[in-house]
Amino acid sequence: MIEIHNLKKSFGNLDVLRKVNFSVAPGEVVAVIGPSGSGKSTMLRSLIHLEEVTGGSIRIQGEALVEDGKYATPAKIKSITSRMGMVFQHFNLFPHLTVQDNLELAPKTVKKENAAEIRRRSEELLAKVGLADKANAYPANLSGGQKQRVAIARALMMKPEILLFDEPTSALDPELTGEVLRVIKQLAEENMTMIIVTHEMNFARDVADRVIFMDNGEIAEEGTPEQIFGNPQLERTKSFLSRVE
Ligand code: ADP
Ligand code: MG
Repeated sequence: MIEIHNLKKSFGNLDVLRKVNFSVAPGEVVAVIGPSGSGKSTMLRSLIHLEEVTGGSIRIQGEALVEDGKYATPAKIKSITSRMGMVFQHFNLFPHLTVQDNLELAPKTVKKENAAEIRRRSEELLAKVGLADKANAYPANLSGGQKQRVAIARALMMKPEILLFDEPTSALDPELTGEVLRVIKQLAEENMTMIIVTHEMNFARDVADRVIFMDNGEIAEEGTPEQIFGNPQLERTKSFLSRVE
């Protein structure tokens, strides 16, 4: 589903990603953990072309977004990135639009689908995230957990084949993380392919098929949750885990 080969990204002379390699199989859930500044967000943002890498390759379903540092054509980039949805730490909802309009805006403008079909899907997805009664509310009137569930429903409106989450619960009060994590867990059970950057170690242990520990721009260690949490091999993995758990 996703193949990343020797990915490199620098900002000026700061090397943020140094030869990152990994792949994700269809239906797999990969949790990415690691200290602040280790390159987790940059790696995710590169996948949907919010950042341009300085070297290496990204293949999505066998098609190259970038191959040896050379990007595909704009049309190709659009077609590849449209298969992925991303959910951000700070929700990024449109404040002047209702919940329902937040969900329907992109499908209406990008997909040019029939309005009745878009409405059917927005109602179905709001029900799925437990917010059927909030269709006409504005983001300012929602809790953080509700906003993040709207953001997830909005991402699903585009029928993505891959979902990327960048610390989806880090901006939430602790009592609101559960309602968001439950929605993500349900998507995992439905076999959505996902990469989840998270500080929620219990959640990573519970839902991830594989855990990647990033440190200093590289994948320091990866394995099953049992391996990474139960028997980490590297001193820096142990040290990170002892600080967050
Ligand atoms: P993480 O998500 O693991 O905290 P990031 O990917 O956000 O890490 O950042 C990795 C490094 O890249 C950090 O040192 C950060 O300061 C730097 N960085 C991120 N974005 C930019 C940017 N637009 N310009 C310069 N440096 C950046
Ligand atoms: Mg980050």
